[in-house]
Amino acid sequence: MTKKTPITVAHGDGIGPEIMAATLDILTSAGAALDIEEIEIGKAVYERGIMNGIEDKSWESLHRTKVFLKSPITTPQGGGFKSLNVTVRKALGLFANVRPCVAYHPYVKTNFPDMDLVIVRENEEDLYAGIEHRQTQDVVQSIKLISRPGSERIVRYAFEYARANGRKKVTCMAKDNIMKMADGLFHAVFDEIGKEYPDIEQEFYIIDIGTARIAARPSAFDVIVTENLYGDIISDVAVEVTGSVGLGGSCNVGTDFGMFEAVHGSAPDIAGKGIANPSGLLLGAILMLNHIGQNPVATKVHNAWYKTIEDGIHTGDIYDPALSTQKVGTKDFAKAVIERLGEKPAKFTPVDYGQGSGKGLTLPPLKPRVTEKKLLVGADIFLDWNGKPDDLAAQIKPTLVKGLDLNVIANRGVKVWPNGQPGTFCSDHWCLRFMGDNLAPVTIMQQLANLEKAGLAFVKVENLYTFDGKKGFTVAQGE
Ligand code: NAD
Repeated sequence: MTKKTPITVAHGDGIGPEIMAATLDILTSAGAALDIEEIEIGKAVYERGIMNGIEDKSWESLHRTKVFLKSPITTPQGGGFKSLNVTVRKALGLFANVRPCVAYHPYVKTNFPDMDLVIVRENEEDLYAGIEHRQTQDVVQSIKLISRPGSERIVRYAFEYARANGRKKVTCMAKDNIMKMADGLFHAVFDEIGKEYPDIEQEFYIIDIGTARIAARPSAFDVIVTENLYGDIISDVAVEVTGSVGLGGSCNVGTDFGMFEAVHGSAPDIAGKGIANPSGLLLGAILMLNHIGQNPVATKVHNAWYKTIEDGIHTGDIYDPALSTQKVGTKDFAKAVIERLGEKPAKFTPVDYGQGSGKGLTLPPLKPRVTEKKLLVGADIFLDWNGKPDDLAAQIKPTLVKGLDLNVIANRGVKVWPNGQPGTFCSDHWCLRFMGDNLAPVTIMQQLANLEKAGLAFVKVENLYTFDGKKGFTVAQGE
């Protein structure tokens, strides 16, 4: 008998318990060798005052099993509650979110019968770091962090995934025409790592036209790799155009851990009615079976699921009298899949996941870090101030420390001094750019002290560096 693999299971909120019961029923009937540990997450835990929706004792199970099959949860709005999904992804280092988006034509209505794409989304960085501050009465900031190792890992994952799954093309999407440094780095890493995968076709899209193309011509894509926020948005667009959000499964993987779930949420509007489609979670569980090396069971379950769909046995969300033969609830759908275990679909192409190692994708190590020469050449000092740019420049001039020049004043990223445009709206958030040559940090500190003495309240300092002589900062619009 196959040794049982320990996994952690959370039944979640809303339709979560119903779709999890159906999924586990199918998995055990198919002979999955699972040793299930249950944990509680979500609404009930939040209501006990635990702000991230998961108790300390649950981490212990997750760290032991390293495999998490998770139902959706209801995230409380506002009130300082943290997203459980973001917490778990970060705590377990789940850097890649993989979302296959497939059309099930002609059994599920879609405008794109040939659509079969996979979104590989970076899961830990970007604006999802949630580093936000209110710096003045009028201005808040949200910091976008993109790292070279983070970009390298996700881009490599996308190429390795493509190779391992017989995919032909990887498309990178970002917005480096605007975010030249952050998205520019992501794009540059894609081009650099892509050279190691000459067998895979490669292309790049600016995210806005890329998203439009997914909505209008999704069949043109194969594997898409992108940053966290863009990936979140395009995967909802992509799964929606396949026909139903109830059909999307997803996995979040890192070097040690894997979390498997449906794309959709807890659907409180249909909770307790026994009508939810368990397919999203089941497709997530199939990804899990492959991850833990129980590929033959994954093959058996997936083929039985395809057969059920093509036999027209459909839950309400995809039921269409013209295409379906029977409208069923969650339990009867699971029963229909179980009855078909061992059968193959006649119209869909049957899947065969082979034997599998249970080791997941192994990525080559990160490229060695080449140390660059970093020099301090200035500082952007941000002020909370109200008034006219020329008056501000006049107040700053007498405070200048030896070795520093006031280069530019910008407001919300637009140059307003010298020679600003009179029509530019100025908020209470000002950026003073001071430049010098090979500075010591104490010079910046002296400048801060002088500004403070002159009654100019700074809210933040951003040091400006060159790396091997290349500027590590952008210029203001209009500069
Ligand atoms: P949702 O995905 O729960 O529901 C959107 C619509 O799709 C609803 O009409 C719902 O009935 C339908 N639907 C969703 N899954 C279905 C299924 N399996 N079968 C049939 N119909 C289905 O999105 P929402 O209403 O925006 O969010 C509800 C809650 O879920 C919120 O608290 C949200 O924060 C949470 N959420 C959780 C996760 C997660 O835990 N991974 C993901 C997304 C949303």
